[in-house]
Amino acid sequence: MRRIRRVKIIATLGPASADPAVVRQLFEAGADVFRINMSHADGDALAARVAMLRELEREHNRPIGVLVDLQGPKLRVGKFEAGKAQLDKGATFALDAETALGDARRVHLPHPEILTALRAGHAILIDDGRIRLRVVEAAPDRAVCEVEVGGTISDRKGVSLPDTLIPVSAMTPKDRADLQAALPEGVDWIALSFVQRPEDVLEVKKIANGRALVLAKIEKPQAIERLDEIIDAADALMVARGDLGVEMRVEQVPGLQKRIIRKCRRLGKPVVVATQMLESMVTAPTPTRAEVSDVATAVFEGADAVMLSAESAAGQYPVEAVTMMSRIAAEVERDSVYRSIVDAQRGRSDIPAQDEADAVALAARQIAETMECKAICAWTASGASAFLIARERPAAPILALTPFREAARRVTLAWGVHPIVTKDASDVDDMVRRACKLASREEFAKEGDRIIVVAGMPFGTPGATNMVRIAHLGDER
Ligand code: PEP
Repeated sequence: MRRIRRVKIIATLGPASADPAVVRQLFEAGADVFRINMSHADGDALAARVAMLRELEREHNRPIGVLVDLQGPKLRVGKFEAGKAQLDKGATFALDAETALGDARRVHLPHPEILTALRAGHAILIDDGRIRLRVVEAAPDRAVCEVEVGGTISDRKGVSLPDTLIPVSAMTPKDRADLQAALPEGVDWIALSFVQRPEDVLEVKKIANGRALVLAKIEKPQAIERLDEIIDAADALMVARGDLGVEMRVEQVPGLQKRIIRKCRRLGKPVVVATQMLESMVTAPTPTRAEVSDVATAVFEGADAVMLSAESAAGQYPVEAVTMMSRIAAEVERDSVYRSIVDAQRGRSDIPAQDEADAVALAARQIAETMECKAICAWTASGASAFLIARERPAAPILALTPFREAARRVTLAWGVHPIVTKDASDVDDMVRRACKLASREEFAKEGDRIIVVAGMPFGTPGATNMVRIAHLGDER
């Protein structure tokens, strides 16, 4: 089962995709990676979903990626006497440490560390920015605010603090428990929400200790300020446009999306564009023209993956949403201007190769282009060579050949990579012979075609990618 498109699709699981039959249809329609959102799941639900996905993987004999998204420090106000209160523009409203139920003058903020971090002048956004407060007086147990944009505030509404560096780790006790539940399940990717600093990512990487790769969700202005360091620390990034569009001005999001994609591509880290991509398909069988254009923009920019959230988790048309996303991506990638746009952003010929693996990835792309090779086959133990070749965005598909199922599952997130689990190669001749056989079996090349084979000697040594061979199908025996 091979996909034609290079960009990957991540589908979030939820009530609309709880039934294994629906998940099978999502996979068949084009989902490459499934996201389990821990904002709406616990350890038991996680284990059940991973088991279902592994069963699907066995059924199709194709690697499937599993991404577990930790909720992160989502801040919320306490409860109100009447369940809600009306806040009028210009009124004074306080967030405080009192546990008493709230009213139109105050409410409990059950995060003492936030009260101490707030300063006069900081903005406080409530309910995805529908209500905007400005701190006029800050004390350790109370922030008195002016209501700049009023509305109805109700129990446990979310709080965003675009101006405040939150003095807590990006992992809450629930996140730690979820991470401890996810790692033994053998999940492939851990996504970390509300990252502010590279240390947030490094903390999760330390706990994961190589058992899963770590993706940093970029949704706070503080993360934008330290973007380079966060890209460096993380294994992948997500442009989490939902919260990013609340914490920053919504009109800043398109520019940020482009900058984040370009930086990630340059530095060879997979990048995902997420949220509201086909939002209207939550309730309608077809998307708006603007949504189609939004998905197309991410594909033209060369993002590694595009993601569905509510569309596949809670919508009425989950399978239609994946089908539509796949159709848009395939059409964009066939468009006559696609290659020139993707190539224009490749832009790393000015960066000297850092090591042999870098140089080999670049050479593989160049040879594949000049010799019109049908595939670049990379023997890889960790998946690292496949990520490096994907960075070059070659026209030829990338086959990641690996004896390790974990590596095959991880590269499902990477642009253009088709993973195949196969037994270890015994020597170079075996590598070349089997690469030809697999490229033919999976219908990437036929007798008479040329492919590129990339490997590291000795095989299985991380970072040892140092060999490029051109092979002719039919001549390899
Ligand atoms: C987002 O905010 O865009 C996002 C992907 O995160 P979540 O769905 O967890 O809010």
